[in-house]
Amino acid sequence: MKINTTFRYPVALTIAGSDSGGGAGIQADLKTFSALGVFGASAITSVTAQNTQGVRGIQAISPEIVEGQINAVFEDLTVDAVKIGMLHNREAARIVACSIDRFCPSKIILDPVMISTSGSKLIEDETIEVIVKELFHRVTLITPNIDEAVFLSGMPIRNEEEMEIAAQKLLALGCRSVLMKGGHLEGKEMADILFTRDEAPLRLTVPTVDTQNTHGTGCTLSSAIAAYMALGKKLPDAVRSAKDYITAALKTGADVKTGHGHGPLDH
Ligand code: PLP
Repeated sequence: MKINTTFRYPVALTIAGSDSGGGAGIQADLKTFSALGVFGASAITSVTAQNTQGVRGIQAISPEIVEGQINAVFEDLTVDAVKIGMLHNREAARIVACSIDRFCPSKIILDPVMISTSGSKLIEDETIEVIVKELFHRVTLITPNIDEAVFLSGMPIRNEEEMEIAAQKLLALGCRSVLMKGGHLEGKEMADILFTRDEAPLRLTVPTVDTQNTHGTGCTLSSAIAAYMALGKKLPDAVRSAKDYITAALKTGADVKTGHGHGPLDH
């Protein structure tokens, strides 16, 4: 029997937190990679005791094991793209920065996760400074929602003009590109806008999907962008495709009952 040893799937690595309820974090990332035909590897930074109703507890993984997971993956697999999600403490953020310098992945999507939909803080305050200083300039794209962008830019964001001013502030902090998610702004039409240093802003609108099942939307979007980049798409196309993927997953999951709170997307 002839065994084909030359074929390999594109590989994406998620460095993020675990959600025991299966809707967000590592679990959402791996489902997304798999659904898009990308082999998913993971480095878990923290474990949450969580379900669709909320986060009950957070345990950070030891820095040695976070580093060990990242090293083990990079020293064996060819990683085509990286997604970075929940980084609970400073040590994890610093390890990720050092790992980027060591292994030089060229496509890195950072979701600056701070607070869950259910209102739980997923990050220690001092970690945010390390993420801004050590990670922003090392990654390809950051994907803040409005609340995160307000916090990171230090200004109110009430409309698209303010989204742009805030994005310029984040670019000035060292980011190469910012996908600002307008989903939390008032109104039926929600725009996500991709700001880069050289190109005109790319405005992406889709009608709001009327559903409670939004748990893990941010995780899924950033991992879909990473997956499409692992598959070879350039950033704007990867963002467009990821947005379509999210919209489809929100629509098909809109009336599905999983748990008693904010259910997950369907993918
Ligand atoms: N739990 C984990 C482990 C996460 O990484 C995230 C988001 O990135 C969340 C929960 C929050 O997800 P959501 O705000 O969609 O509920």
